[in-house]
Amino acid sequence: MPLFRCDTCGCVENTAMGLFHDRDADYWPENVRGRVLCSACAPATRADGQATGYGAWHGQLARRAAAGMLVDQRGHLWHRDETGRPASVQIGGEAR
Ligand SMILES: [Zn+2]
Repeated sequence: MPLFRCDTCGCVENTAMGLFHDRDADYWPENVRGRVLCSACAPATRADGQATGYGAWHGQLARRAAAGMLVDQRGHLWHRDETGRPASVQIGGEAR
């Protein structure tokens, strides 16, 4: 369950529940394209008006700030005390 930091509100989000994998797709409005957003901050509609299911927090996990968590080279978050991090993971900094 990879996690990431929302570019708008700074909360921790799951890559499968927020706007992460398809962030560069051309069906997003230009002001959204390329950004990683939690389910609450992602737009409720695509550029063509199609509903996305976003626009509200999904409620599947508690909404909390990412500040202080570690960020790897893919933008995924890790808890500081998390064990079992694969050797391929390179920590590049700390979430704001
Ligand atoms: Zn957000």
